[in-house]
Amino acid sequence: MTGSARRILVVDDSQTIRMQIREELEEGGYEVIEAKNGLEALIQAASPSPPDLITLDIEMPKMNGFETCRKLREARYARFVDSGDHRVPIIFITGNDTIEDRKKGFELGAVDFIAKPFQKGGVLAVANKILNPPLMHKGIQALVADDNIVARKIASLCLSREGIEVHEAEDGKQACEIMHAVGAKMDIVITDLVMPNMDGMQLCRHIRQDLGRQNIPIIVLTAMSDLSEILEVFKVGASDYLVKPFAKEELLARINVHIERNKVNRELRETIKLLKEANEKVEKMSVMDPLTGCYNRGYLNKQIEIEIKRSIRYRRPLAIILSDIDHFKKVNDSYGHQTGDTVLIRFVEILKNVIRSDMDWIARFGGEEFLVILPETTVSNAGIVAEKLRSMVSHEPICCEDVQISITSSFGVTGIDPVTQPILPSFEQMLKAADENLYRAKKEGRNKVVSSLL
Ligand code: GH3
Ligand code: MG
Ligand code: MG
Repeated sequence: MTGSARRILVVDDSQTIRMQIREELEEGGYEVIEAKNGLEALIQAASPSPPDLITLDIEMPKMNGFETCRKLREARYARFVDSGDHRVPIIFITGNDTIEDRKKGFELGAVDFIAKPFQKGGVLAVANKILNPPLMHKGIQALVADDNIVARKIASLCLSREGIEVHEAEDGKQACEIMHAVGAKMDIVITDLVMPNMDGMQLCRHIRQDLGRQNIPIIVLTAMSDLSEILEVFKVGASDYLVKPFAKEELLARINVHIERNKVNRELRETIKLLKEANEKVEKMSVMDPLTGCYNRGYLNKQIEIEIKRSIRYRRPLAIILSDIDHFKKVNDSYGHQTGDTVLIRFVEILKNVIRSDMDWIARFGGEEFLVILPETTVSNAGIVAEKLRSMVSHEPICCEDVQISITSSFGVTGIDPVTQPILPSFEQMLKAADENLYRAKKEGRNKVVSSLL
């Protein structure tokens, strides 16, 4: 036995039972101390090395288990075994397991009941759960609402042994307050139906409708197995129900199912979200120019048709600006291709800063040629925009590491106006006109805007 083994005080007037419990607890690695009556238990509790857990027989001569428990909770003994808000866990072992006894026991602060005769390993299993909780559901928070202390304690113990953080409510109103305080972090609700202030049905409805918590599992505890009542419970949004009195194993099994299901659902929702994001990214990438982040030629060819159709249907003007950086080959030749790339990126940024971000858009047309699409814009207004672009580009030297590169660009502007044009040109015709204007701008000395209506 190691010095760090946990000590369990076994209190029972029967030597046979004490031996039986001792055997299995020692097998489980615990240090066992014994007391054959309540008085001895109090002496052991007040010893220099107090127990970490106490098993307490209820039926004992002179001082019974309840009385011993009550005394252990008195300050003069409690100061030895309890520290802060931690109270030494007490398990009652009883040959006469009744609801009344359980109520009494829980009120005295018992953590569990074991009915005699118990199966071999039964006490060890409970001791392990209390002293070494498996924490299957660590990090999970649960609300247990029940005005009946026995039912509430059974449920809350079941959960806390699984590592769940339990919030207890004595009535529906308190349950609501806790739901509000804990908010989205609450993972599961176990509620009684008949409670003062607000009943379980109202609580269900409040959680589903007012708080909008559609996915939180709600297990309703009902005293009757009346089918119509159970149907009502499901109607108000319960996920499951348990008929009282329920076995804690049953509650645990249900809770495990719901928590697992919720976990799987949550993971599924997260995976779907990631997948959606990935898809959106792929979709976006497929229409983007990877270098400059503006649209690519494929997107342009598809989207321009929509823009033209919209312009015709609503009889609104549509303009395009074809821009081509002047002597860009020289930039590459003088500073290298990589610097040339940076210049292209910065050039697009300048364009983007000038155009209306909600309406206008840019597509990379070729190497250093970009097409700006301006819906709801007349050619004369597009000419003004192009002039602004030209001016910005020529006045804003581009910083590339340690060099400042001054560039200029030429612009060919054209557009359509369904109100004044009887026959509307195609995109190809628009492009041809823009290209001709661009060519003229180049020919007339570059760093220039040439516009014409089609
Ligand atoms: P102009 O004023 O007549 O338009 O002269 P220019 O030198 O700009 O025109 P030209 O068509 O002769 O050269 C365009 C250059 O743009 C050549 C090509 O290598 C370069 N280019 C095209 N795409 C890219 C790119 O993605 N990155 C870089 N760095 N350069 C590119
Ligand atoms: Mg060119
Ligand atoms: Mg060029």
